[in-house]
Amino acid sequence: MRDERTAAAPVTVRCRGINSYLVDGLDGKLLIDPGWPHCLPELKSGMKETGLRLSSIRYAITTHAHPDHAGGLQTLKRLCGVRLIAHERQIAALDDLNAFFKRKPDPGFEPIVIGAEDLVVGTPNRAALASIGIRGEIVETPGHSEDSVTLITDEGWAFTGDLTRPDMVPDESAAAVTASWRTILAHRASRIYPGHGGPIEAAAIEEILRARSSGL
Ligand SMILES: [Zn+2]
Repeated sequence: MRDERTAAAPVTVRCRGINSYLVDGLDGKLLIDPGWPHCLPELKSGMKETGLRLSSIRYAITTHAHPDHAGGLQTLKRLCGVRLIAHERQIAALDDLNAFFKRKPDPGFEPIVIGAEDLVVGTPNRAALASIGIRGEIVETPGHSEDSVTLITDEGWAFTGDLTRPDMVPDESAAAVTASWRTILAHRASRIYPGHGGPIEAAAIEEILRARSSGL
């Protein structure tokens, strides 16, 4: 049953082609994907347009540790005291992201540090998410990258990051991508909120998978 807090859709804020999403958590918002290192001002003004303040963000998840999705994470942590909610399979990839920016310095990037205040979860993690007011689950969805995860809320919203659409996937990663989409659908996702572009109905993904498996 839905309670009064349930919104019709997550708040979407865009910065340089990247979608950041906001959903309700305990005493504040959960941000999915902070974006590039320099995205914070755009995130702030985008939130302001919807009547939200940057300081309302209490938690952050990144769908995967690529520069355009996780680059602004540490700045957000430092400025707003945001707690990172990370899946354990992402820890090594976050280290790799720090190493990437060491090789290609960006003055806006702050190295990501996972501290005692952050929450590192395994699989399953429903109870851990419930402790911060998120009703849903983070599922492992490799394919675009090894560390990719998808948050699926009880509203049926699935935040898939860069998981490639099953009809656009190159052959070499088709098996992993298809398996990840099946995992997402098995968790009763109804609407897909990708890292780039607009939302997609889960039924459309299901149809593509059906066509693929029947060789159409
Ligand atoms: Zn990516």
